[in-house]
Amino acid sequence: MASSNRSLLVLPGDGIGPEVMNEVRKVIAWMGKKRAVGFDIAEDLVGGSSLDAHDTPLTDAAMAKALQADAVLFGSVGGPKWDTADFTKKPERGLLRLRKEMDLFANLRPAKVFDALVDASSLKPEIVRGLDIMIIRELTSGVYFGEPRGIVDLPDGQRMGFDTQRYTSGEIRRVCAVAFELARKRKNKVCSSEKANVMHTGVLWRQEATKLHAESYKDVTLEHMYADALAMQLVRWPHQFDVIVTDNLFGDILSDEASMLTGSLGMLPSASLGAPDATGRRKALYEPIHGSAPDIAGKGLANPIAETLSYAMMLRYSFDLGTEADIVEKAIENVLAAGYRTGDILGGGIDAKAAIAKGLKPVGTQEMGDAIVKELDRMV
Ligand code: NAD
Repeated sequence: MASSNRSLLVLPGDGIGPEVMNEVRKVIAWMGKKRAVGFDIAEDLVGGSSLDAHDTPLTDAAMAKALQADAVLFGSVGGPKWDTADFTKKPERGLLRLRKEMDLFANLRPAKVFDALVDASSLKPEIVRGLDIMIIRELTSGVYFGEPRGIVDLPDGQRMGFDTQRYTSGEIRRVCAVAFELARKRKNKVCSSEKANVMHTGVLWRQEATKLHAESYKDVTLEHMYADALAMQLVRWPHQFDVIVTDNLFGDILSDEASMLTGSLGMLPSASLGAPDATGRRKALYEPIHGSAPDIAGKGLANPIAETLSYAMMLRYSFDLGTEADIVEKAIENVLAAGYRTGDILGGGIDAKAAIAKGLKPVGTQEMGDAIVKELDRMV
C-alpha cells in the first residue's frame, strides 16, 4: 500500500466487530492499490477484548493513539460474556471514554435508502424511495450530562428522580456550525429542532441557531421545527428534510426513528466529530450504529455494509476524499442492485431458498465483502 501521511486507528472491538472490519480491510487495501489512498494504520483493542487482555475496556495507550490519529474506525463492543463486569469496566465505557476525551460533540447519522432495499422500510416505497437525509445530534451535553441529577427521598415518603437539561450558547453554536457546513455540501437546507415552546434550552437553541445563521450562513436555508412535529413529519414526508440538527435527547430518539426509515441496522454508518484544531483537522470516530450482535457473532452472517459505509464517511469527512467515498457507496449500491443480500436484508423473514427463487443471492459476511471489492474492480 502507498505510504501516507494519513493516520488511522482501527478498533475492531467485540462480537461481529472484527468480522465486519475484516471486510473493510479489503476495501482499504483496494483503495491503496487502485487509487493510491493509503493510510498509516494502527490497531488496538477496545471493549470486552481489551477487558480480557488488559482488565480495562480501553488502555491509556489506546486512548493516546486515538487522540493522535486523523481518524478512528470503530467496530462494536459488548456481549453477554461481559454483562456482569463492574460498571466502570463495562465494554461500553471504552467507547464513552473515546467520545469524551476526543470531545466528539457532533454525531452524524445519515439515513439513506438504497433503491434495491426500498421494500425493507416499514414505510411505503413511495414515501422513502431516494431518501437521503442527515441527522446531526449534539453528543456531549444536554440532559444526559447536566447537573444536578439524581434520585432523592422526599419527606412524604415518595422518591423523586431529576435531570437537568442545559446548553450553553457555545455548545449550540458549534454543533449548528457543523450542520450549516455540511448542508453546503448537500442540498443547502438545515432544519433545527427543539421545544422552544416549552423549554428554556429550546428558546436559547432557536436564538443561537438563528444568530449564527444570520452571521455566517445566510446562503443556507434554515427552518425551525419543534421536535414532536419533526417526529411526525419524519414518517409523513421525510423528503422535505436535508440536514437536521438537534440536541442530545431529541437527537437520540429522532435519529433512531430516521434509521428505521431505511430498513436494517446492518446498513447504517455514523460519524462523530470534534472541534477543528489550528490546522482545521477535526478529531473523528466512525462506526456502524449496530452493536456487537452476539446472536450471530462468529457465524459469518453479519452484514459488513454499515462498517464499509462508515469507512466511506471517513474518506469524505476526515480526508476530503469525496470522489473515493462516492465510489465505495456506488459499489455497494450496485452489489445490492445485483441481488447480494446478507440475512438481515433478505426481507420479511424469507429463507435462502425463497430468496433465490426471487432472484436474490443470499451471502455471508465474506462473500458480501468480496462482492463489493469485485464491483470496485469492475467499476474502476
Ligand atoms: P445489536 O445492534 O448488536 O443487534 C440487534 C439485532 O440486529 C440483532 O438481532 C443482530 O443480529 C442484528 N444485527 C446488528 N448488526 C447487524 C449486522 N451488521 N448484520 C446483520 N445483523 C445485524 O444490538 P443489541 O442486540 O441490542 O446489543 C448487542 C450488544 O451490543 C450489547 O452488548 C450492547 O451493549 C452492544 N451495543 C454496542 C454498540 C456499540 O458498540 N456502539 C451499540 C449498540 C449495542
